[in-house]
Amino acid sequence: MNVSLAIHGGAGTMPRHLMTPEMEKNCHAALKKALDAGVAVLVQGGNAMDAVIAAVTELENHHLFNAGRGSVFNADGKHHMDASLMDGTSKLAGAVAGIEGVKNPVQLAREVMLHSPHVLLTGKGAEDFARERKVLFAGEEYFFTSRRYYQYLLAQKEDKILLDHARYQSPKGTVGAVARDASGGLAAATSTGGMTNKKYGRVGDTPIIGAGTWADNQTCAVSCTGHGEFFMRQVVAHDIHCLMLYKNYSLSEACEQVVNDKLKTTGGEGGLIAVDAKGNISMPFNSEGMYRGFYEKGNLSTGVYREMI
Ligand code: ASP
Repeated sequence: MNVSLAIHGGAGTMPRHLMTPEMEKNCHAALKKALDAGVAVLVQGGNAMDAVIAAVTELENHHLFNAGRGSVFNADGKHHMDASLMDGTSKLAGAVAGIEGVKNPVQLAREVMLHSPHVLLTGKGAEDFARERKVLFAGEEYFFTSRRYYQYLLAQKEDKILLDHARYQSPKGTVGAVARDASGGLAAATSTGGMTNKKYGRVGDTPIIGAGTWADNQTCAVSCTGHGEFFMRQVVAHDIHCLMLYKNYSLSEACEQVVNDKLKTTGGEGGLIAVDAKGNISMPFNSEGMYRGFYEKGNLSTGVYREMI
């Protein structure tokens, strides 16, 4: 059975000289747990959409990642989360932005896709819809971690809006998953707390279909992580689809061109994970590292910096 899954836990990694072996071990264990959750769905014959939701839910529940429970603080001291997903078979998509208190934003994005006539719901309206759909909420304390609070206080002091970075003691970032199921179906999902100390209702690429997330069975499924403004301006996920569809690029050629050429030359730091219709996986990044993992042809592997284990 030719099934593939790739996940990421963000491109804002801790510089190597600050990473302890213990911390690195924890990162690999957390990534492996999320991979296992998604792979379990695929090997039991489940579809790509259910697999990416299972993997992203696991990452959202982990306090170390900047999504769901571990989301960063915005300038008001709150957690405003964004998420999206796309099904490459039906080409349906769902997304939420600027939501508070929803335990698993990726699951709310699925509700939007399946039970509303819309693609993207924001803020209070999205939260009202979540209550109607009986999606789980969690209290403020669930989203509070002292590490994130410290990161937020430092960012406030310097009046900066930040990706997850080491000097702020935050080893991990946005999360995402892409999958190919046994019937050739592709799906992608991405979820984030955005950028620390973000203001004025800022929304990044994560909930924007085509920028942070894309899936089409003809070509690929893509989930991005990095400095969202660059990914939005370059419509990164959809750009990879276009290079494959209109220029016959392979998945890895398209990913390389976008991440290590187009994005890099404009200063857009980050990376992405992608899977094509045959189940090939590509995971390029132009940052120092990217928390990531994949399952392909029965092999499972995770990585933080250049090498995979
Ligand atoms: N892309 C996300 C954003 O700009 C951040 C990240 O990937 O860490 O909101």
